[in-house]
Amino acid sequence: MRIIVDTEWCTGSGQCALTAADVFDQRDEDGTVVLLQPEPPAEAHEAVRQAALLCPTRAIQVVE
Ligand code: SF4
Repeated sequence: MRIIVDTEWCTGSGQCALTAADVFDQRDEDGTVVLLQPEPPAEAHEAVRQAALLCPTRAIQVVE
């Protein structure tokens, strides 16, 4: 799995960081997503898929 985030689309809602905290964080300044693990381990995959679905602006792309 590989993750691509588009920070231009991110509105800082935080769904990703709540859903997969090991993989996504947010910038202190404005809440924009920070991708901690572009290629997360298998145990994180389900949470990452969920985070991508929950992102209100579709800023998270998952390549399987
Ligand atoms: S869920 Fe989407 S819009 Fe919200 S912080 Fe994460 S990437 Fe940004």
